[in-house]
Amino acid sequence: MLLIDIMKKVLRVSKALMVKSPAQVDVRYQAMHNPERYRGEHRIDYETCIGCDSCNKICPTHAITMKKLPFKKQNIVPEVNLSVCIFCGLCEDVCPTKPEKSIVLSGGRYDMLSGGWHEDQNDFWVHVDIPQSYIDSRLEEEEAVRVKKELAAKKKAAEAKAKAEAEAKGETLEEAEAKKPASDGTPDFTAGGES
Ligand code: SF4
Ligand code: SF4
Repeated sequence: MLLIDIMKKVLRVSKALMVKSPAQVDVRYQAMHNPERYRGEHRIDYETCIGCDSCNKICPTHAITMKKLPFKKQNIVPEVNLSVCIFCGLCEDVCPTKPEKSIVLSGGRYDMLSGGWHEDQNDFWVHVDIPQSYIDSRLEEEEAVRVKKELAAKKKAAEAKAKAEAEAKGETLEEAEAKKPASDGTPDFTAGGES
């Protein structure tokens, strides 16, 4: 009987040793199951961010720095210093983009609470790394828009000039346009040929 009791105890202890207690689980490598209003590390969507600067202006701890981008529009995007951030969520609340906000406190980094694991202060920053291919395509788009605007402006200026010239001759622009094919710059070889 005594031997059976000992065996049972040994079995119980062995089982207990095989199951990890919560304190033994390294939560850094566990899947996140965040509650609805969880506030964690910021996720920043540089494609939807309109660079309005509202998140930066409202941040009570100056944790946000606006990173400059090489574009004419949306030329800034937020980056967050998590060692200063108090996770108040105001930056997310104020972000105007829809349907999704461009800055959301949805990321998970349990290791932020332990200073010992960070040799580099950059570990505390949420940086926005934009691929060169995205930068190139955005710059191409902006260049196309610039060229289109330039052509439209030139066309408008030419129309205004033609209108002014027609008015100087006492004609409407339509009348001047109607005459244009006969006097569109082609040399008139018949004029004055008999003299
Ligand atoms: S959560 Fe609060 S403190 Fe942190 S970056 Fe956003 S506004 Fe600033
Ligand atoms: S508030 Fe939103 S849209 Fe405006 S700069 Fe911040 S992340 Fe971008």
